[in-house]
Amino acid sequence: MPKITTRKDERGPTSESQTRTDIFSPEKRSEIMSRVRHEDSGPELQVRSALHAAGFRFRLHRKDLPGTPDIVLPKYRLAIFVHGCFWHGHADCKHSVLPKTNTEFWKNKFERNKARDQMVRLELLKIGWHVLVIWECQIKLLTEIVNELKNCTSIKGSK
Ligand SMILES: [Zn+2]
Repeated sequence: MPKITTRKDERGPTSESQTRTDIFSPEKRSEIMSRVRHEDSGPELQVRSALHAAGFRFRLHRKDLPGTPDIVLPKYRLAIFVHGCFWHGHADCKHSVLPKTNTEFWKNKFERNKARDQMVRLELLKIGWHVLVIWECQIKLLTEIVNELKNCTSIKGSK
C-alpha cells in the first residue's frame, strides 16, 4: 500500500503575484472604496446630522421617488441629493477632474450620470417636489445651507 503523505504547502502566494495585485496604496484604495459606497459616505452623514440638529424630520433613500433621493423632508416635499463632485461631474469644481487614463470612458460615464441627475430632477419637479443638491465640496458651507433651509421652510409657513 503506497504511503500517502499529506503535506501542507508552506509556500504562500508568491511575492510576485502580491505586488502585481497591489497597484494602489492602502490610502488610495480606501479613497476609491469610499467613493464607491457613496450611500453612507461622510458628506451624506454630515448633512443628516446637521438637518437633525436643526430639528428637521427626514427619511432616507425613498425608493418610491424618482432617483431614490438621499434625504427626503416629507413635510416640505423636499428631496435632497448629496452628490460627490467626482461622480456627478460638478461643473467648474476642482474635485471633478477627469482621470488621465481611460479618459473617454470616464467622460462618458460622468455625462451619463449628469444626464440621469437632470432627468431625475425634472421628474421630481413634475410631481410637485422641490429638489436641493448639496455638493460634496459645499459641505463646509453646510451650516449656511441648513440655516437658509430653515428660513425657506419657515417662510413657506406651516404655522
Ligand atoms: Zn464640487
